[in-house]
Amino acid sequence: MVLDSLGKSLRGVLQKIARSSNVDEALLAEVVRDIQRALLQADVNVQLALDLTKRVRKRATEERPPAGASVRDFLIRIIYEEIRSILGTERTFDNRPRKILLAGLYGQGKTTTAGKLARYYQKKGVRSALVAADVHRPAAIDQLEQLSKKVGCDFYANRGERRAEQIVREALARFPPHTTIIVDSAGRSGIDAELIAELKRVREALQPDDTLLVLDAAMGQSAGRSAQAFHEAVGLTGVVLTKIDGSAKGGGALSAVAVSGAPILFLGTGEHLDELERFEPTRFVSRLLGMGDIQTLLERFEELTDKEEAKNAAEHLMSGKFSLRDMRAQIDSLGEMGPVSKLLSFIPGMGSQQIPAGQLEETQARLRRFRAILDSMTPEELDDGHLIKGDRIHRIARGSGQRSQEVRGLLKYWETTRKAAHGITSNRKLRRQLERQFAQGSPPA
Ligand code: GDP
Ligand code: MG
Repeated sequence: MVLDSLGKSLRGVLQKIARSSNVDEALLAEVVRDIQRALLQADVNVQLALDLTKRVRKRATEERPPAGASVRDFLIRIIYEEIRSILGTERTFDNRPRKILLAGLYGQGKTTTAGKLARYYQKKGVRSALVAADVHRPAAIDQLEQLSKKVGCDFYANRGERRAEQIVREALARFPPHTTIIVDSAGRSGIDAELIAELKRVREALQPDDTLLVLDAAMGQSAGRSAQAFHEAVGLTGVVLTKIDGSAKGGGALSAVAVSGAPILFLGTGEHLDELERFEPTRFVSRLLGMGDIQTLLERFEELTDKEEAKNAAEHLMSGKFSLRDMRAQIDSLGEMGPVSKLLSFIPGMGSQQIPAGQLEETQARLRRFRAILDSMTPEELDDGHLIKGDRIHRIARGSGQRSQEVRGLLKYWETTRKAAHGITSNRKLRRQLERQFAQGSPPA
């Protein structure tokens, strides 16, 4: 996992939100502080981190969650969106054969990346060829040849030739169309006129589909300036950020390069040829924040936005103000999904739990009985379930065509759900117990 400690800190923040009794000014202040600290520790630019948390605070204060979504989930979504926004644009990178020019300074991982990209294409069934155009260092040519043998791809070099662009022309004449051609160009210790001129000549000869800058993530924030300079000089289509595995400054490099205008396309995550991964900002943030749960939460948000009748029910459930009326709204909105407590499984860190098939049917049947019982209650009873005692129970049972025992079961379930609601977010056992109880219709042990 890349950027382990940043991910860990941010997941800690989300957990804190999920477990809090309510989202208030104090929690918000704490969350903002935690996020700032996490970002700064990952070397994200101070101003960038401050701006981000300022937006989080402003949005959390001014914007309203969609109906049926809790303030907690809403805050989590805001954090997700704001972190996503500093990672730049998403770019597709398909498997069609293409011509790739790699640029970069010495030691950034250019040659290694050439080998990794060749492996990437070979694995996808696209023939690839490595072209050695680093004419200044003979050792670089040998290194590339070794890599081509490991990958099992084509290779071209011309050790007597001093003009990189000439080597490229020869290579183009040699390999058939539909070959991905990856050119490892020469590096320098700094960006100078000579380097840029050579890159331009090679680009002229190659007519690349992609010009990728290879950058070491250990540069931290200064990777942004380097990306900017190369982008202006030769025009980049993307950046490969290498050695993200060994760098505590990954966050700084990622966020700084993102603002340079050239999208980050790949991350180098180790020395081995397989250690290259596509960088997709949205997926990256999902993973950083705890992946699957976040995705589910976001999808759920989309649904809830349209569901006016589920208004605030989840929020009430979490804050302990869950009325029978809320419970009815939830049964209506979650009717096809299962028990009320299923909603809790969308809280990050809890994962979702499968209910056995038979149990699900029973749950559905019970939901229908509950719905009938709730329909026989008066508005006062729906708002204050504690009014329902003695004769009222019999009246509701008669009205709904259910047994009094079932009415008591509903009240018991409501009471348990209400009381347990926030405990549940951090208590798996209790949640399972509730689900079982709901499906089987038995009071909790
Ligand atoms: P070049 O001068 O830009 O061609 O850089 P090289 O490809 O020769 O790489 C320089 C060093 O960085 C080598 O020791 C590589 O093994 C190492 N390296 C390259 N990419 C990565 C990476 O993603 N992670 C790690 N840990 N090391 C890498
Ligand atoms: Mg090299």
